[in-house]
Amino acid sequence: MGDNAHHEIEWPASLDVGKLLESGWRPTPFRQFILKLHSRCNLACDYCYVYEMADQGWRDQPRRMSKATIDRVAARVAEHAGAHGMDDVEIVLHGGEPLLAGVEHTRYAVDRLRGELGGGVTATVRVQTNGVLLNQAFLRLFAELGVQVGVSMDGDREGHDRHRRRAKGTGTYTEVRDGLERLIAPAYRHLFGGLLCTIDLASDPIVTYEALLEFGPPVVDFLLPHGNWDTPPPGWTETGSPYGDWLAAVFDRWYHAPVRETQIRLFSEIIRLLLGRPSRSEAIGLSPVAVVVVETDGSIEQVDTLKSAYDGATGTMLHVLRDTFDTALFLPSVAARQIGEQALSERCASCAIARVCGAGLYPHRYRSGTGFRNPSVFCRDLYRLITHIRRHLAEDVAHLTRASG
Ligand code: SF4
Repeated sequence: MGDNAHHEIEWPASLDVGKLLESGWRPTPFRQFILKLHSRCNLACDYCYVYEMADQGWRDQPRRMSKATIDRVAARVAEHAGAHGMDDVEIVLHGGEPLLAGVEHTRYAVDRLRGELGGGVTATVRVQTNGVLLNQAFLRLFAELGVQVGVSMDGDREGHDRHRRRAKGTGTYTEVRDGLERLIAPAYRHLFGGLLCTIDLASDPIVTYEALLEFGPPVVDFLLPHGNWDTPPPGWTETGSPYGDWLAAVFDRWYHAPVRETQIRLFSEIIRLLLGRPSRSEAIGLSPVAVVVVETDGSIEQVDTLKSAYDGATGTMLHVLRDTFDTALFLPSVAARQIGEQALSERCASCAIARVCGAGLYPHRYRSGTGFRNPSVFCRDLYRLITHIRRHLAEDVAHLTRASG
């Protein structure tokens, strides 16, 4: 639906931020700033939320974030960090494909951001790339500036090339593997931030995981494909939990390996939550989401994965030229992701594992009519995975208790 009229009555449009403030709630300042350095991509992956899903806003965006916009973003980030007394922030250079911005433009962005923040605030800078353009010139730049590099790869050649293709249809496995091999060479290995893999049920979970392990990633992020109640993800059924089964198979392979071969963020976060600690990932748990996106034209948006819900879902009408990041913190759509249990649907609120699951990733909860106050479309999968991990932990604890008793 092109106009957003009906979304105005869906939750969280009705969320009264004034009332929240009266009740003592305070927003959590943004700590992670995702900068869309370039709005286009050199690949045409078939599941990409930027280009293939409901929101087509990228068509109106300039290709590259201009230097004037970068200056403004840098000033706004510094203003936000200063106003909230932060000692560190995280900057993620994103796209489209951020490396299309070019080496010198990327240097300019990182220098300006660090320059505005000054010595009192540490800026951890990461770039999330498809890996195809990861050449020596970029690697030298990233080594000089201490930029961590995350690469998207979907497993073995067959699984990767099924989706991660050029517009003309050719797979990119060989190019990404070559980029990764340059990254994991001794001179640059310390920059390797991890691999990001979108789950495809057609790929064997163990083959996929072991193919990723070949590159020795410090962290693997498995992403559920985008979907919601209006447009369920591929292979979704009313009664099954195919994504939960897929992830449980990887968990068993990872957890029972004789040595810890890598970190898998989703599993580590679930284990933390099961042990009563807060989550550090927006994919799971009830911690406030402290992430904001700046588009190439300087508009301030909510996290990008919302683009999968409906056209215009990420928009806030705010812009770094006119507005502070603080202004965004008081929008119902941003507050909705910072109020923990109060954002849950009735069914989630009475769910036994709600504190751990937190209804999953916010975009996966969307259903036209009710908006984002629903269980995740991956509800059965999350339940299956979390209870699977809980059972393994409980067995280990029981074993330890017996051994020490
Ligand atoms: S999405 Fe499902 S598993 Fe998660 S909290 Fe809601 S009801 Fe529970």
